[in-house]
Amino acid sequence: MANVSVSALPTPTAVPAPTPIPLRQILPWAIFGAVLAVVLLYFVGAEQGVTSVFSGESVHEFVHDGRHLLGFPCH
Ligand SMILES: [Zn+2]
Repeated sequence: MANVSVSALPTPTAVPAPTPIPLRQILPWAIFGAVLAVVLLYFVGAEQGVTSVFSGESVHEFVHDGRHLLGFPCH
């Protein structure tokens, strides 16, 4: 077993705290994420019957477990 001395270890250096990101830079990404979340929620919750965008049951079946997980009425 090798005997490692403490002095061979690198000394810790102080890392400056990151500067906060300005709200002006975060806002477009927050809006983009919110729009994506609403679109995803639409496809999980309302993509069937009269409100369906795509015909058929493929989208409904793809997100079927998500519907039950989030408590949307299904069957
Ligand atoms: Zn179901």
